Amino acid sequence: MSLISKLVRGMVNQMSLSRLELERYNRQIMIDGWGPEGQRKLKDSKVAVVGIGGLGCVSSIFLAAAGVGKIRLVDKDKSCLTDLNRQILYSVNDIGRLKIEAAKEKIHDLNPEIDVETVPEEITEDTAPRVLRDVDIVVDGLDNWKTRFIVNDYCVKQNVPFIHAGVSEFYGQITTIVPRKGPCLRCIFPKQPAETQTVAVFGATAAVLASLQVMEVIKLIIGKGKPLIGRILFIDGEEMTFETVQAQRNPKCPACGFS
Ligand SMILES: [Zn+2]
Repeated sequence: MSLISKLVRGMVNQMSLSRLELERYNRQIMIDGWGPEGQRKLKDSKVAVVGIGGLGCVSSIFLAAAGVGKIRLVDKDKSCLTDLNRQILYSVNDIGRLKIEAAKEKIHDLNPEIDVETVPEEITEDTAPRVLRDVDIVVDGLDNWKTRFIVNDYCVKQNVPFIHAGVSEFYGQITTIVPRKGPCLRCIFPKQPAETQTVAVFGATAAVLASLQVMEVIKLIIGKGKPLIGRILFIDGEEMTFETVQAQRNPKCPACGFS
């Protein structure tokens, strides 16, 4: 982008928060280091949520509540009764509907200012470049490692931050991958973890992890705080312990290696 178009874009952004937006977001704009400038950055951002299940329902609605301007929902599945213990954007009336369509409605009920794109597709090596094109950050709402690694590889290649989280039962983990600033998923898991066909999940666990993902997204966009780069946070809701473990880049990583 040329300097002039950056300046013009900056000027447009300066003017782009309406009186209603300033009122809607007032309680977070008040936060030190957030302000109208942080809010404008959120409005100008595009975030993809891949997988609109237990994690993705909560992350997408909180991204919308916080005022992320463009949200792309990626999921090809339809809602069913066994989803409703944790996928809080869906009601019994949504059973059998495409999740992304129901989710888009709920997001617009909450915040009609948000531009929601829906992509009813599976992410593969072939589709990833199209499905994830032009996004600033990708949020992991997936339930399988194969797809996570595909998203990881795309994000590393395109230099797009990827907020990973995974949940099972009362447990979960989260890390923030900023390519080449810290380890990627393949650095952390040199071997792809085993897949579980049907993961046992408690809705509140997914909600905690998804809320943490949203915090990471917002921090990256507004440039506040210390993201979980090179750190993995493990949460055990049974014992109620939160433990952070350091993780390093692998120089020989097949995705982001540098040796
Ligand atoms: Zn790596």
